[in-house]
Order: sequence, then structure tokens, then C-alpha cells
Amino acid sequence: MTAHSGIGMTSQRTRDRLAETLVEMGIKSNLVLDVIRNTPRHLFVDEALSSRAYENTALPIGFSQTISQPYIVAKMTEALIKGKDLQKVLEIGTGCGYQTVIMAQFTKQIYTVERISGLLMRAREQFQKLACTNIRSKHADGNIGWLRYAPFDGIIVAAAPIGVPVALLEQLAIAGRLIIPVGKPGDQKLLLITRKEEGFEEEIIDSVSFVPMLSGVDT
Ligand code: SAH
Repeated sequence: MTAHSGIGMTSQRTRDRLAETLVEMGIKSNLVLDVIRNTPRHLFVDEALSSRAYENTALPIGFSQTISQPYIVAKMTEALIKGKDLQKVLEIGTGCGYQTVIMAQFTKQIYTVERISGLLMRAREQFQKLACTNIRSKHADGNIGWLRYAPFDGIIVAAAPIGVPVALLEQLAIAGRLIIPVGKPGDQKLLLITRKEEGFEEEIIDSVSFVPMLSGVDT
């Protein structure tokens, strides 16, 4: 991705510094750190914000939404890929497509769903620009998952519902993992839910702050 490596505040040194911060915060997977280093986050935000693209913070992407904080993207990705050979991953909440492009580098195929069409159109342009050919996306309400391609080895959710949507549990493969923030603003937990032969196992991995998961679609 050298054509996108950038200069000054988007330079390799700036990206390396972000990776160092993530290591200090507990991210251990070198595979994940390398992908974060090599993925041009500045292309996913407005040009006016590109000098801040490698700070470890969420940034506005329009439509009252944000690009996820790099630490959270790394944490969710690390938890999803651990010890797995992922074939099919579902993402709910494409947003600007940053997490999608990161995850696309760890799975054979990724399916992503976004309810705001203006965001999805921009994300699709990025997927083309970065030549990501293993991403399939649709404009829909992610509360119902994407039955057509189920079951998924992993499901990653970038917006917080009050409770875990049943459809997402149903669309997990056996031994598949669902990573999802759950709860009201100010009181959210990031859950790692694993499907067992019978039932599900649940683990809290962090306290988090995501935008709420809404119902229906926007134009
Ligand atoms: N990982 C994304 C995060 C975007 S913020 C990024 O880095 O850009 C969360 C996104 O979830 C928003 O774009 C929001 O519109 C979307 N979202 C919220 N509720 C949704 C739903 N029910 N179905 C699909 N997308 C939803």
C-alpha cells in the first residue's frame, strides 16, 4: 500500500507510533499491529482531519457517526481471529469501512451491513480504491444479520444495542464468535460470545463507548 503511505502527520513514523500505543494498551498480536500500521486510516476521514487520523481516538465521519478508535478495532480483531482460520465474517455497522478493510485482511470473505446509505456509498469507494475484492456490502438493518450467507465464523458489531440481537446468535457457526458492545450510552460492555455445540459462552472483554445500534434504515 505504498501509494497510500502519506507524508508528515500520516507518515510511517506516525503510524508506528500508533502501533506502539496499542502495544502499551495490551494489544499483543503482531499480525494485527502490522495490519493497523499498513492500513491508511487517513483515507477514511475527511481531509481536514487527516492529520489526526493516527491518534488513538474516534473521529467524526458525518451523519452523527464516528470511525472507531484504533485500540477498539485492534482489540475486536484480535479477539475474533485468535486461533482461527476465518472463512466468513459478518460486520454490522460498516461506517467509513475502516474496520471492514482491517478485517478483510484476516478472512476469506467479509460481509458488511450499514443502515446509512450515504456512509455505505463512501465506504464502497474506499473498498475499490484499496482494491479489496473480498468485501460484500449491503444497505440494511443489521439487527437481522445477513441470513443468505450464514453461518459465520465470526460476527463483529460496531454499534451498541441494549441486548444481543437473536438473529446474530442464530447466524453464528458452531465455535463461531460474536463480538458486540451491549448496553446504554455510558454503561456499555464489549462481549465475546462463543457458540458451543449446545448454547453459548459469554465473556466481558472491556468497558466501551459505541454509538447506539438503531433500527430500520436511513437514506
Ligand atoms: N467500524 C466503523 C464504525 C462506524 S460507527 C468505522 O470504523 O467506521 C457504527 C456504525 O453502525 C454507524 O455507521 C451506524 O450507522 C451503524 N449502525 C447503527 N445501527 C445499525 C444497524 N441496525 N444496522 C446497520 N448499521 C448500523
